[in-house]
Amino acid sequence: MRNIFFTPGPSQLYSTVKKYIRQALREDIPSISHRGKKFQEIYEGTVSGLKSLLNIPDTHRVYFLSSGTEAMERVIENCVETYSFHFVNGSFSKRFYKTALELRKKPQKYEVPLGEGFAISEITIPKYTELICLTQNETSTGVQVPMDDVYALKKHPTKLVALDIVSSAPYVDVDYKKVDLVFFSVQKGFGLPAGLCVIIVSPKAFAKAKLLEEKRSIGSYHSFLSLEQYAVKNQTPETPNVLAIYLLGKVIEDMKKLEIKKIRKETEEKARMLYDFFDKHPENKPFVKELTWRSRTVIVADIDGGSKPLIERLKKKGFVVGSGYGELKERQIRIANFPAISIQDVKKLIKNL
Ligand SMILES: *Cc1c(COP(=O)(O)O)cnc(C)c1O
Repeated sequence: MRNIFFTPGPSQLYSTVKKYIRQALREDIPSISHRGKKFQEIYEGTVSGLKSLLNIPDTHRVYFLSSGTEAMERVIENCVETYSFHFVNGSFSKRFYKTALELRKKPQKYEVPLGEGFAISEITIPKYTELICLTQNETSTGVQVPMDDVYALKKHPTKLVALDIVSSAPYVDVDYKKVDLVFFSVQKGFGLPAGLCVIIVSPKAFAKAKLLEEKRSIGSYHSFLSLEQYAVKNQTPETPNVLAIYLLGKVIEDMKKLEIKKIRKETEEKARMLYDFFDKHPENKPFVKELTWRSRTVIVADIDGGSKPLIERLKKKGFVVGSGYGELKERQIRIANFPAISIQDVKKLIKNL
């Protein structure tokens, strides 16, 4: 029986990944030097593929890190001297806030109950804030921040804006000119094995790192300055996850052929089918009530009487769905709606729900 993973990370592999892993082994990718020409070509190919797939301007820098969690730390280290401001509505946005605390900054947070989003334009952000941190898609609760709300933060021109799109990329269409630090890891929407993260850095954010570096430590090998020193040579400071950079490049080529517009449209169609199903269900309802806050890539539903029996019944049929997250574990299911999941897969899942 073939399992389909609707889990929000790690998740279903993108359809061509197994083929590319075999190809990588034939080409000895795990053994090549990360200082050699072959690796530089892979690096260059993946970065230019990313820029073209996601429409990242040439002014922006693209670096590889090892995880989304690491990216939170790098963002704070490189761009905050003292004050960050965090919109918190679940476990991942809280992790971002805690990272700033652990790095001995003075973060502030605006927190709302689980399942809710933010009326961003009505929230007062202190004048002295250096960086505003947003989890565009809160994977623990299935709440999204609409991109227009993110762009409205442009009214604070002196502040930097960081955006966690770990569980919404490549679906979410970001105007990179309007945000400063954007990151995602690849085991979610790109349908790849875990162990690689991409961060996109604006000129303003890079300048901030440079300025900070003159005053205090901004970290060591993964400071933006160190990353940049190697990126200009199509390299990384450390021995990176070469296989993952290779696989990401291949999947991006496939996504480009399919067209990102089509992937985004299909994501919306599948999300509509799932929300429709739960909206009409007599007992099991979508957790997020407000339509504009409903994530298109992670659909969360309250399960009457607890989610465990349903998760186990689905598993026996080859449908692996996520449990709720943290305190909501027993009450909910979470369904990842990433590009690796087809419309047919969603139809089959709904039939069995
Ligand atoms: C999964 C996730 C992370 C953590 O990413 P890792 O690569 O597992 O460290 C961060 N933010 C969000 C929104 C996530 O969904």
